[in-house]
Order: sequence, then structure tokens, then C-alpha cells
Amino acid sequence: MLKFTKQGIYCPRADVYIDPWEPVQNAIVTHGHSDHARWGMGKYLCHIHTVPVLRLRLGADIAIQGLEYGEAVHRNGVRISLHPAGHIIGSAQVRLEYKGEVWVVSGDYKLVHDGVSVPFEALRCHHFVTESTFALPVYRFPDPTLVFSEINRWWAQNAAEGFNTVLLAYALGKSQTILQHLETETGRVFLHGAVANVNAALEGMGYQFPGERIATETDRSSLKGAIVVAPPSALGSPWLRRFSPYRIASCSGWMQLRGARRRRGVDRGFVLSDHADWEQLNQAVSATAAETVYVTHGYEAPFARWLREHKDLQAHEVHLQGAEVMEDDL
Ligand SMILES: [Zn+2]
Ligand SMILES: [Zn+2]
Repeated sequence: MLKFTKQGIYCPRADVYIDPWEPVQNAIVTHGHSDHARWGMGKYLCHIHTVPVLRLRLGADIAIQGLEYGEAVHRNGVRISLHPAGHIIGSAQVRLEYKGEVWVVSGDYKLVHDGVSVPFEALRCHHFVTESTFALPVYRFPDPTLVFSEINRWWAQNAAEGFNTVLLAYALGKSQTILQHLETETGRVFLHGAVANVNAALEGMGYQFPGERIATETDRSSLKGAIVVAPPSALGSPWLRRFSPYRIASCSGWMQLRGARRRRGVDRGFVLSDHADWEQLNQAVSATAAETVYVTHGYEAPFARWLREHKDLQAHEVHLQGAEVMEDDL
């Protein structure tokens, strides 16, 4: 029912693409990250909470339809529905069913609950298309609740020692998760404009996160002991100077690798990811009971081989053009 084409994952019967990277007429977008949500589609279909994000990132005038999780649309006999992927707010797995045959395209996902996005739903299917960003046994992420307390402890310690705190986290997804778990009695919370813009877009959907947008008139004394949440692109930019003296940390799944922190030039690295680690990927694949698995987005070859040799599945690696991991999405 699905084909892997140079424009993206395509369902010919429904004439719809999933996360296409070239302009097409009908696109289903799994979530708002830039390697999935691209400009130039005739019509967009996504989860309702992704609608304001796509309008913010792709333009207010795009033609877009939002679906609730579990709600279905029918196109030429194909039943299409979106289900929670647990990756970020509004992230969805796409389920397609035609004459009893079921395909699920995971998009990006994780199984651990982040306290913000709707938890991942395991769906049974015949064919499962899975991401594989962290599909190596070396990736075993700690319980995020422990990481949130480490972050809070570090912030309090910095404040006590006379330092401001800067946390680097991508603007859509990880920033909201972190903001949700900050112990705001420690100090004030400030936001880079990119984070503030996403929060403002999500407010219309009923989300509320702490933090004030940094403005040129923000007084330096108000930053004392505060925490600033900014996207990774802020690292090394002159924008950071006003926060001096500060300590800076990165929050990413890659922080698990020794040396990643040093290479990025930060004081601390917190292992926090919106993707599934090795254990979660294996668990997710098993839960689908799929006979055929297509592996995209990351370690396609080793994970497909693992699934063939150890899980006795028909597993194929699929190299989607344009699916390189983005800084936005770690
Ligand atoms: Zn992605
Ligand atoms: Zn993503």
C-alpha cells in the first residue's frame, strides 16, 4: 500500500505522501520538526496541535486540516488515522488501512512519558515503518524524571554560586518539556525568541509554559540567578554575552556519548531525548506484531540487520532522501 519514492513515503491509492520533502498535492505531516514538515505542499493533514506550529513555521496561509488522535479520514477506500507518537506535542503515527491490510508509519517517537505530549500508543499492524535515530545498543537513556531533578539541582547550585544558567534545547519539543519541569521558585525563567514563539503558538491549544521572552530592554539585574532556555544555535553567538556570568548546558540524547559535551563547548550535558533509545525501539517494533519492518531516519542498516537476525522479521532499510538528522531534532 505504501511506496518509498524520491518525494517521500507515498500511498498511491489515497494519493497522499507522508512527511514529503518535495512539494506534492497532499501531505500528511507527522510533526512540526523541520526534517518532517516542509514548505510547498498543496494541502497539509496533521494532528490539531501541530496546526499552529505549521502555521508559525510554514506560513499562516497554508491549506491545513487538523485531526484528533484516533479520528479517521477516508480517501479512495483507504482509512487514515493519526495516533500518539509521544515525541513532541502534536506528534503522530500515521495508520493506513485498506481491505484489512494495515500500515503504520511511526514518524519520530519515544515510549517514555515526557509529561507534556500524549504518550505513545502501540498499534498492531502488518507493516511498520520505524525511525532509528538512536538504534544502537549503546543508547540507553536515563529516566527523564531523574534528569529533570538534575537540571533543577544544577540551576539552584549555579544561582547559589552567583552564575546565571543557560540551557540549550531545541525550540519545539524539548524546550516545552524542560519548562514544564522547572522548579520556578529557584529564580526567573527567560526564553529565547524562537522558544517564546513556539510557546505562543501552542497557547491557543491550551498549553501554558513558564517563562518570559528576552527583550532588548530586559534589565541585566533581572537575570541574576535566572535560567534561560535557548535553541542550540545560540551557542557561540553574541546573543549569549548579556547573560554573563553564566554556566551553560546542552540537553540531548547525543550527550550520552563521551566527548559530546566537550565537543560542543558546554559546561554540562544532560541526556534527554525525544527519541526512542535501543530498548524502546525494540519494544515498539515487537508491540506492533508486524511481519515487515521498514527502517528509516538513522541507523537503518544495523537496525534492519538486527531485526532480521534476532527477531526473525522481514526488515528493510530505507534511505529517505532529506531525512538526515537535523540539529532541530535531537
Ligand atoms: Zn525527525
Ligand atoms: Zn522530530
